[in-house]
Amino acid sequence: MWSDPLAFPLFLCIPLAQMNKVLMKLNFCSLSSGSNGNCYYLGNELQGILIDAGISATSIRQFLKNMDIPMQTIMGVLITHNHIDHIRGLAVLARKNSLPAFTTHKIWKSIPASQKKISPDCIREIPMKQKFYLAGFDIEAFPVCHDAPETIGFHICTGDKKITIATDLGHICQTAAPYIKAANLLVIESNYDEQMLVNGKYPHYLKARIQSDHGHLGNHQTSAFLADNFSDNLSNICLAHLSKNNNTPEIALQTLQQTFSERGIILNDLQRISILNRNMPTNMIRLIE
Ligand SMILES: [Zn+2]
Ligand SMILES: [Zn+2]
Repeated sequence: MWSDPLAFPLFLCIPLAQMNKVLMKLNFCSLSSGSNGNCYYLGNELQGILIDAGISATSIRQFLKNMDIPMQTIMGVLITHNHIDHIRGLAVLARKNSLPAFTTHKIWKSIPASQKKISPDCIREIPMKQKFYLAGFDIEAFPVCHDAPETIGFHICTGDKKITIATDLGHICQTAAPYIKAANLLVIESNYDEQMLVNGKYPHYLKARIQSDHGHLGNHQTSAFLADNFSDNLSNICLAHLSKNNNTPEIALQTLQQTFSERGIILNDLQRISILNRNMPTNMIRLIE
């Protein structure tokens, strides 16, 4: 269990009535999603967190500034695994902004030395499948199948809202499925269109790697899982980590919509599907206004 010493003085400065009002808000956005770099923001006007820091620290700071999110409100960055598209900006962000990084012991050990020139004070090792507290969120890491020494997704709860982030996984294993099914806002990979990958220019070994149980999720895999487990509690589906060469936002969306239509699934007025951009932030999703 982690306490959150950084957040504590901030709470002390705010009158209770005002704090309750501000804490009612809850916003999510993707700063970047895909093999070019992954970084996601979740927070309110007081404090927030980042999930992965796969683009440069300069870009992260600039994107947050453009969205009027002060860097001082970011209390930490959660790291899913050691691939460069998830850690590219981590060291600079941790050094220059004194931002603590939260990940498992095994993932931290697997990050190359060149990418973790960080003060030991900035490293917070977290347990697997055990809640810890950060910036007003109860957070739980869960294992997913991917071709890194260890890869995790995050299940993040505040009030009655549940957010699950699972961006790199070859298939949805039994351990990960309950966290994905429980989400109100789900960020889930829809990496490749199966036909584009098979007919594309990638070498055979790379196609096999991507399609394997430890690679990435294809559009039909993701769509089938979402259709099989669809519930009215799922208010926001965010399709993430789209391949530049083997997918398009239109095809990913069309595959999901077609699968839903074939199964007779109709979204209600409050349910939204978003396709997360590869190179620029998405519009802010306001989970609580
Ligand atoms: Zn990735
Ligand atoms: Zn990866």
